Amino acid sequence: MFSTTEAWQTIVRHAQPLGTVKLPLNKCLGLVLRADARADADSPPFDASAMDGYALRKNSISQPVQVIGEVQAGSPFTGKIGPGECVRIFTGAPVPPDCDCVIKQEDVVREGESINVQQMDGPDFIRRRGENRRAGDLIVPANTHLSAAALAALASAGITQPEVARAPRCAHLVTGNELVSPDQKPTGAQIRDSNSTLIAALLHSQGAELVAHAHARDDLAMALATTTALPAHDILLISGGASVGDHDFARPLLEALGFTLHFQALNLRPGKPLVFASKGNRLAFALPGNPVSHWVVFHLFVAPLLQHLQTGAAAEPPRLKGRLAVGITLPSADKRQTFWPARAVIVGGSYELTPMPLASSGDSSGLVGANALLPLPSSGTSFDPNQPVEFIPCP
Ligand code: AMP
Ligand code: MG
Repeated sequence: MFSTTEAWQTIVRHAQPLGTVKLPLNKCLGLVLRADARADADSPPFDASAMDGYALRKNSISQPVQVIGEVQAGSPFTGKIGPGECVRIFTGAPVPPDCDCVIKQEDVVREGESINVQQMDGPDFIRRRGENRRAGDLIVPANTHLSAAALAALASAGITQPEVARAPRCAHLVTGNELVSPDQKPTGAQIRDSNSTLIAALLHSQGAELVAHAHARDDLAMALATTTALPAHDILLISGGASVGDHDFARPLLEALGFTLHFQALNLRPGKPLVFASKGNRLAFALPGNPVSHWVVFHLFVAPLLQHLQTGAAAEPPRLKGRLAVGITLPSADKRQTFWPARAVIVGGSYELTPMPLASSGDSSGLVGANALLPLPSSGTSFDPNQPVEFIPCP
């Protein structure tokens, strides 16, 4: 059985980073920029007032100072400003070239068309041309995940169609005779399908696109027909049927579709029967159907794969260090490497990890609030409070 690291290396060997597309800014949140973005002009592009107040020449003040005009944001002042004169100015307005200082309005007393300056020892309150960025400066480096702030930086540089990694296209096949959709009341031996909602949300959080979703009953021929009819995709995710039970058909389905299986079981708890396969550039996972297994293997393998396809980084999920807030006793001893969902919070400047109280690997509501995975060594079943641990953040 592969370790999680061997599994990851196998996945990366078969995964080619995707090409790029140019998209409008409002479609780019969370996507990965693929080309350095540079400022097209100095920022600010002119000397601008940082305050509402009065612009004047510092060394020619003789009280009172005559107010000879007004300059607003968006319209430059074209007149001359001589000694003993000033203009009313507002934040963001260009400071007239004759002036070297803005006095904020709180520091003057105005009487009619003149002012008396009460205080002059502050800064000059001018945002100098280029003090934020010079034309040509790097503003957002390639491989940045585009946040709201990064999108705003691109907008300020006039980059309205940035080159981003194409979102990985994913198709999801959920399997199981027992499943009904969440809007139905299960009867008898039925349960609601929660994995489809889980997978759709997890894909969205990783910048991937869910191009199709279908449900197949536990019947190979029907599942084959359903899967063949799916629209083009980069990654096929099959929920359930990954194991070796009589009705688990994910492996024969992948083989019938022409995929090559690269691993079919991992040294992992939960999630041992994870299957990974490829067919040319198309990749597929069969994910064990238990909701907790789903969450674990998604964060260990599918999320980093989606990132690799967008960034080419080939990085295993990073690990941080923290402490257990409470102790944990695993339900049973097992030679497999356990990854336990947990909640990481910062307390007093360091991470504290609370393992989720999962009644079983079918306990989807026990995952609510989880934002981390705790790799726990197979050497023990009991871990004490305050014990130092590593964890994998699961955003
Ligand atoms: P399987 O991997 O198909 O053997 O399923 C393992 C367990 O997960 C079974 O108890 C299933 O009923 C449950 N399960 C499978 N698919 C789903 C799903 N989409 N939503 C919730 N539970 C599921
Ligand atoms: Mg099943």
